[in-house]
Amino acid sequence: MRHFPLFLDLQGRDVLLLGGGEALAAKARLLAAAGARLRQASRFSPELLEGVALACAAGAPEAELRALSAACQARGIPVNVVDRPALSSFITPAIIDRDPVTVAIGTAGTAPLLARLVRQRVEAVLSPGLGRIAALAERFRGRLREALPDVAARRRFLEGVLAGRPAQLAEEGRQAEAEAAFAAALARAETAPTGLVHLVGAGPGAADLLTLRALRLMGEADVIVHDRLVSAAVLDLARRDAERIDVGKARGRHPVPQERINALLVELARSGRKVVRLKGGDPFIFGRGGEEIEALAEAGIAFEVVPGITAALACAAQAGIPLTHREAARSVTFVAGQSREGRLAVDFAALARPGQTIAVYMGATILPQFFAGLVAAGADPSTPAAFIERGGSPDQRLLLGSFAEVAHEAGGWVGDGPALLLLGEACGRSPALPGARATVAPR
Ligand code: SAH
Repeated sequence: MRHFPLFLDLQGRDVLLLGGGEALAAKARLLAAAGARLRQASRFSPELLEGVALACAAGAPEAELRALSAACQARGIPVNVVDRPALSSFITPAIIDRDPVTVAIGTAGTAPLLARLVRQRVEAVLSPGLGRIAALAERFRGRLREALPDVAARRRFLEGVLAGRPAQLAEEGRQAEAEAAFAAALARAETAPTGLVHLVGAGPGAADLLTLRALRLMGEADVIVHDRLVSAAVLDLARRDAERIDVGKARGRHPVPQERINALLVELARSGRKVVRLKGGDPFIFGRGGEEIEALAEAGIAFEVVPGITAALACAAQAGIPLTHREAARSVTFVAGQSREGRLAVDFAALARPGQTIAVYMGATILPQFFAGLVAAGADPSTPAAFIERGGSPDQRLLLGSFAEVAHEAGGWVGDGPALLLLGEACGRSPALPGARATVAPR
C-alpha cells in the first residue's frame, strides 16, 4: 500500500489553496463541504502557512509550487499539488458521499480513471439512504451504551439492527418508524439476553456452494461448532477471530457424543456468544439437527436453521444425474444406510419399486447387504447406479455401473472421503456418461 487512507476532520480548520483553475476550484468545493475555512492565495509566502491544517495547489508558477511543497513538508503540513506526486505528501481519493458514510477510493495516483470507474460501481450498489442508517445509529449511541454496557453485546445488537428492520426503515426515509423499531429492539435486547444458535448447512465442501446467509452468519459468529464433514475451504470463510470447536473428532478418533454437543451448544449460547453450529450438507438431513434444536428449545434458547446443499443434490448435480425425470423417476428417497445390530432398518419393499431414485447416505460399508435385501424384495440388479465420493467438492470421484457391479465394487474403490449411492433409472440418464460404466476425474 503506497498511501495510507484516513479521514481528516477539517471542521473550522484553515486550508491554504494556492494558484487557481478548475482543478483547484473542485478541491475548494470538497473542502468547503467538509467544513474547512479556505485561505486563497495566488503567490506563496511562508506566513500563509500559519495555523494551516492542509494545503492544496494548482495552476501556480513552478517556483511557487515547489516553495509551497518544501515549506509544508518541512513543517509537517499535508500538501497536495494537483497531478504532481513528487511535490505532494497526500493525494485525494475518488469519494462516495452518503454523509456520514463516506467511501474513498485510491489508486496511489496510478490510474485516476480506474478510481472513477470503481466509484461508479460502488455508487450503484450503495443505497442512497445509507447515510440515514448511520445517522440512526448515531442518535442512539448514548442510550445503547447505557442499555448494553458490554462491548460484545452491543456489537451483536448493532449487527442485528443494522441488517434488520430499523435500518430498512431508516433507509427508506421513515425516520420516526425507524427510531421506534430501534428502541423496541433495544428494549428486547435489554430484557432477554438468552442467546441464539444458528444451525447452518455448510454444503458438500466447495466454498462456493455455501449460501450467502451461511457466509454472513459465519462472518458474525463468535464461536463455530463444526463437524468432520465441514471442509477447510468453508471454515476459512469464518471470522478470523472466531473460536472453532471441532466436535467431529475429539481426542483420538472418537467424535464427541451427541448429548455432549447438545449441552455444549446450550452452554455457549447462555454465555451470550453468537453461536454457529456448522454442519456438512443440510442440517436436517441425517445431521442430527432435529436433536439439537430439541435440546435448545428445552433450554429456552432461540435457534434458526439455515439450509445447505445436501450431499445427494451435490453428487447428482456434479455427475449429471437428474434425481427426478418425467420418464424414469417420479420420486426421490433419502435413506440412511446404517445398520442397527447388524440389520438394515430400511423398508426394502418400498425401495424396490421402480420409477424412483434412491440416495443412500452413510452406506459405504453396508452396500452388499443393502443390495441383497433390495434384490430379494424384487429390485432389478441391472438398475443403473452411481457411487460418488466427495461429491460437490473439487475432488469428486464417480463409479457408474449396474446396481450389482457398484454394490460389489464400491467397497474396494472408495477412498477415505464421504460417499453416497444413487440408484435408479435416472442414473442411466446422465448425458455426461451415457450408460457407460466408468470412473471419471473431477470436473
Ligand atoms: N447432513 C449431511 C449428511 C450427513 S450424514 C448432508 O446433508 O449432506 C453423512 C453422510 O453423508 C456420509 O456418510 C455420506 O454418505 C454423505 N455425504 C456427506 N457429504 C458427502 C459428499 N461430499 N459426497 C458424498 N457423500 C457425502
